[in-house]
Amino acid sequence: MRRTRSARIVATLGPSTTEEPAIRELFERGVDVFRLNFSHGTQHDHARRLETIRRLERESGRPIGILLDLQGPKLRLGTFEGGRAQLDAGARFRLDMDKAAGNARRAPLPHPEIFAALQDGTELLLDDGKLRLRVDSHGPDFAETTVLVGGPISDRKGVNVPSVLLPISPLTPKDRDDLAFGLSMGVDWVALSFVQRPEDIEEARAIIGSRAWIMAKLEKPAAIEHLDAIVALCDGIMVARGDLGVELPPEQVPELQRLIVRACRKRGKPVVVATQMLESMIASPVPTRAEVSDVATAVYDGVDAVMLSAESASGKYPFEAVAMMDRIIARVEADPSYRAGIDATHDAARSTTADAVCASLRQVASLLAPAATVTYTSSGFTSLRAARERPAVPILSLTPDIAAARRMAMVWGVHAVLVDDVHDVGEMIDCACRTARAEGFAKEGDDVVVVAGLPFGQSGTTNLLHVARIPR
Ligand code: PGA
Ligand code: MN
Repeated sequence: MRRTRSARIVATLGPSTTEEPAIRELFERGVDVFRLNFSHGTQHDHARRLETIRRLERESGRPIGILLDLQGPKLRLGTFEGGRAQLDAGARFRLDMDKAAGNARRAPLPHPEIFAALQDGTELLLDDGKLRLRVDSHGPDFAETTVLVGGPISDRKGVNVPSVLLPISPLTPKDRDDLAFGLSMGVDWVALSFVQRPEDIEEARAIIGSRAWIMAKLEKPAAIEHLDAIVALCDGIMVARGDLGVELPPEQVPELQRLIVRACRKRGKPVVVATQMLESMIASPVPTRAEVSDVATAVYDGVDAVMLSAESASGKYPFEAVAMMDRIIARVEADPSYRAGIDATHDAARSTTADAVCASLRQVASLLAPAATVTYTSSGFTSLRAARERPAVPILSLTPDIAAARRMAMVWGVHAVLVDDVHDVGEMIDCACRTARAEGFAKEGDDVVVVAGLPFGQSGTTNLLHVARIPR
């Protein structure tokens, strides 16, 4: 099975997509990476879905990526008398550490770290930014506020504190437990929610090591201030537009999306655009024209992947949503102005051997129009550097490491295939030609451009480019 598009599709699994037939249909309609969202569901639910995905993978022979998305330090109010209350604009409202159920005058906020970080005048957002409070005075265990924007509020609604760098770890005790569980199940990518600083990535890396690749979700203004350092440290980025558009005015999200995508493409780090891409398809079999345009814009910008959240997790039309994304991507990539745009936004390669070789690959691909690029990689490094160049032909990525093959499912243009270890260049070229033919990328007499690093098995050594003709 082969996808003919370059941009990838990530789909979140949830109540609508738990059973094997549903997951299979999502995969057949075009999903490359499945996202297990640990903000919802039990470890048991996620483990069942993961086993189903691995079964499909064995049946289809195609490596499939699994992204474990950790809930992160999502801050929440406590409970209210009768489950709800109404806050009126202009009223005084107190937040404190008292566990007693709240009402229209006060509510519990069980997060001492928030109180410690507040200043007079800090704004707090409740329930995805629908309500707004301004801090008038505060202490170590309370804040007196004025309601700026009122409305109904209910138990355990989220609290955002956009303007403040909170002294909290990106990994809560629940996250650490979910992470250990996910790593033992063999997930390929781990997404960190509410990343604020580069050190957050280092903290996660110390636990995860090389067992999975790390994706930083950019959804806090503080993270945007450290964008380059965060992109440099992590393995991939998610433009988490949902929370980003709560923490910042929504009209700032498009420019940040473009800024983040450019920063990632420059470094060759996979970047995913997420949230509300086909939101109306949660309830409708057809998307709005604006949503179609949003997906297309991300693809024109050269993102590695676009993502479905509730559309595939809990919506009524998960398969239609995937099929729609697949068609939008195919249509954009067939437009000649797509290639022109990708070329115009391409950043020059850095002066390393790997990037010089991959820049040559880009040039050879555009001058010779070979049938495919073939990378031979142990860690995925060579394939990532090749994908950074956004060559005009597909990237067939050969690797003896199944973990690397699965991680590559997130990457623009890469079709990963698990192969045996090779021992010399001749064997590697043979393997490249044979696999390109077997996977339907080339036929006899076609040229393929092969890129690899010697010695084999040592990551980061990309130093060889060879044009091979598929033998008769
Ligand atoms: P979430 O992250 O779905 O876990 O909140 C994505 C986002 O905030 O956009
Ligand atoms: Mn989020």
